[in-house]
Amino acid sequence: MFIGLLVLLAIIIPNTRPVHEDSTASFCYSSRRRVEAAIEMYNMDQSVMMERYGPAEEILLLSGKYLTERPGFPSIGCIYTSSGSFETGDFKIVCPVHGTAIR
Ligand SMILES: [Zn+2]
Repeated sequence: MFIGLLVLLAIIIPNTRPVHEDSTASFCYSSRRRVEAAIEMYNMDQSVMMERYGPAEEILLLSGKYLTERPGFPSIGCIYTSSGSFETGDFKIVCPVHGTAIR
């Protein structure tokens, strides 16, 4: 009985964690993509381009309705900041936990 439970846990535990990691990473990715899309829309409308992203820029995007709500942070440590620039074409919203990765 006890051995059976251990075997069952050994099967379940390694399979549970990657699924959770995977879903938080894809949640993080979709939040970052939403922010990037909002900044692209903002930059099409405004004469002064948004070249970075932080708390002040988030307020601009929310007040201008480019973002309908604050982006979600799926795990502790997910904070969205920007890297790169529009001039060089590598502007990205990055997360210290998930980087720029899709997953
Ligand atoms: Zn993240």
